[in-house]
Amino acid sequence: MSKKVETIGVLTSGGDAPGMNAAIRSVVRTALGHGKRVFGVRKGYNGLIQGDIFEMDARSVSNIIHSGGTVLYTARCKEFYTDAGPRKAADMCRVFGIDGLVVIGGDGSFKGAERLSELGINTIGVPGTIDLDIACTDYTIGFDTAVNTAMEAIDKIRDTSTSHERCSIVEVMGRHAGYIALWCGIINGAEQILLPEMENVTEEEMIRGILNNREKGKKHNLIIVAEGVGGSAELAKRIEAITGIETRASILGHLQRGGIPTATDRFHASMMGSYAVDLLLAGKSNRVVAYKDGQYCDFDITEALKMKKHLDDYQIKVSGMLENK
Ligand code: ADP
Repeated sequence: MSKKVETIGVLTSGGDAPGMNAAIRSVVRTALGHGKRVFGVRKGYNGLIQGDIFEMDARSVSNIIHSGGTVLYTARCKEFYTDAGPRKAADMCRVFGIDGLVVIGGDGSFKGAERLSELGINTIGVPGTIDLDIACTDYTIGFDTAVNTAMEAIDKIRDTSTSHERCSIVEVMGRHAGYIALWCGIINGAEQILLPEMENVTEEEMIRGILNNREKGKKHNLIIVAEGVGGSAELAKRIEAITGIETRASILGHLQRGGIPTATDRFHASMMGSYAVDLLLAGKSNRVVAYKDGQYCDFDITEALKMKKHLDDYQIKVSGMLENK
């Protein structure tokens, strides 16, 4: 049964994402504005189990809106997959008087939030992940910064690639979701995009494309590979061996997680953090904040976790029209 909350906890969990600090700030200031007490939990569910918890005031979140990472730190917590982990965490919430909790993270973190809701702690999820792979929402905090970071890095690789008339393979983040790869493919003008969600072109087709592009006078060839497809270094070696064109693979890796959050990330994070507190104040639990069709809204976590997200067919079609021309 959900109940009214007086003391709100906030934590970040799973993969970090730029803009998480803006969300923390918004949770803290909104809750304080309503006269509630606020506790920060360090290191995700690990900190909740271990009682790594401290009271926050308005100054605790001064000067963080523009910084990447998360001032509360984040972690993956194996114990939360067991029965005992969430129970210990719920008990620790009661020790600190936390009766409402905001969890900023991805789908995995929301499963943990669902467990805490079942154990009587009113819990709300806020979508924070660079991968944009949470089905119930059109936006996740961190995506815009990550995709801009990747775009800028790829622009730089493209410059040097053109100078040396190379073929470049750039691997971007996204183990299960190709949103960063698809966006970068379109905004960086890639010749080819390889995504984990779909059947991609064969290596033979790719090599034919590279050779055709050379005949057309193209000075470089850019291939974006999503992390979930992987194998960039080996692919580069095979392309170079077959075509004789110098080919280099770059794996952008964790640099995509850091950096100053963009205006879009700060704005959505601020709105979603506040919305999460409003839900708690309305006595809600087991909800996830979402941004859908231009509006902030919320879904039942259990329902949200069952939803499936698919890459947009029209975006795929356009990327196909623009590549290899
Ligand atoms: P994200 O939240 O970014 O998707 P993870 O999938 O790593 O990241 O999940 C973050 C944490 O959430 C995990 O380390 C674990 O503590 C908790 N979690 C994930 N899945 C479950 C689950 N099925 N039950 C309980 N807790 C979970």
